[in-house]
Amino acid sequence: MNQTAKPLNLRGSGIHFSETFPSEVLENTVREGVFSKVFILTDENTRRWCLPLCSALKFPYEVIETPSGEAHKTLETCGLVYRELLNRGADRSSALIHLGGGVLTDLGGFVASTFMRGIPFINIPTTLLSMVDASVGGKTGVDFLGYKNMIGVFSSPLMTLVCSEFLKTLPHAELVSGFAEMLKHGLIYDASIWNGLKARSDAAVALEDIASSVGVKAAIVSQDFKEEGLRKTLNFGHTVGHAIETLHLLSEAKKTLLHGEAVAWGMVVEAYVSYRCFAGFSEAGYREVSAVVRSLYPRVVFSQEEVGTLIRMMGRDKKNRSGRLRFSLLEAIGRCTYDVEVSPQMLREAFQKVGLCG
Ligand code: NAD
Repeated sequence: MNQTAKPLNLRGSGIHFSETFPSEVLENTVREGVFSKVFILTDENTRRWCLPLCSALKFPYEVIETPSGEAHKTLETCGLVYRELLNRGADRSSALIHLGGGVLTDLGGFVASTFMRGIPFINIPTTLLSMVDASVGGKTGVDFLGYKNMIGVFSSPLMTLVCSEFLKTLPHAELVSGFAEMLKHGLIYDASIWNGLKARSDAAVALEDIASSVGVKAAIVSQDFKEEGLRKTLNFGHTVGHAIETLHLLSEAKKTLLHGEAVAWGMVVEAYVSYRCFAGFSEAGYREVSAVVRSLYPRVVFSQEEVGTLIRMMGRDKKNRSGRLRFSLLEAIGRCTYDVEVSPQMLREAFQKVGLCG
């Protein structure tokens, strides 16, 4: 598959990049929107650390706070927000501003897209992961019965404000979690991005790195918004990663794993499968991906029985057809293909060989 097209020029994409909070940009959009009411959705952490950076805003708004964390990315939390919106007099010309990480932008986007059949919303991502991935591309939704993103809609924000100032208060582990999605963008689409990031043992990023990572996502999504083809490549690492994340979420014995941590190990397993299933992807390529992930992310390990559970969970992945497991796999560093059928046996071998089954 030819993916050599460079990322789009992001002008006109509705994504604004800045190092400090651009109050005027947001004020202009709110003024043009002539909204009846504006609500800022936060969680307890973004209310504490991020809302103060917006203190210069000159328009009136009300704050709605949700509980933080993946465990709260549920329909119950949506119910809480719908109720607050109703109690505070929101109507169809009200707007929601999401100030938070991927949990909040995913959930908030779903609430905004379904409340009174849809009200406008603006994303202000405050984690690295939500800047480079979750707040771009129009996927919104919540988890259901422990399965990731089972309920949701495609819906785009009026605007996304990416402001690197928010990263100053982000815990380091969260920063490294977001870095995994930047590594993925390089692996699937642009080897020069991978080569520029792979030696950064501290996951330090500048606004330009964030912008080029967003450029990859925006370029892919602009060619395939509804994920009928090319967009599936963004799932590299996620079929295994989502299962790992879900298993940790459901198991009381396991510590919570951050999304990017799960995706990083998912990329190692899927890089191994890429090497074993494709003549094109080399063993050296797999080893390079593995070494970078090992240098950045705490190792996870599963029993034989848990690997069986993980493979059954992958069977619920939205990309599958007729119960067969389908993966997005690397053809080379910087090039990815999709809809590749992979057997449960191959996955068992991969968990064993990459050292995640002990
Ligand atoms: P998150 O939203 O849980 O945020 C991580 C933690 O950091 C939270 O405790 C939050 O309160 C806190 N926080 C946020 N910003 C902060 C700041 N500036 N300073 C201090 N603390 C801050 O996690 P995340 O990693 O941003 O997002 C993960 C979610 O994103 C997952 O649910 C995943 O499924 C979703 N996601 C969605 C897409 C998509 O396309 N829609 C893509 C990738 C990931």
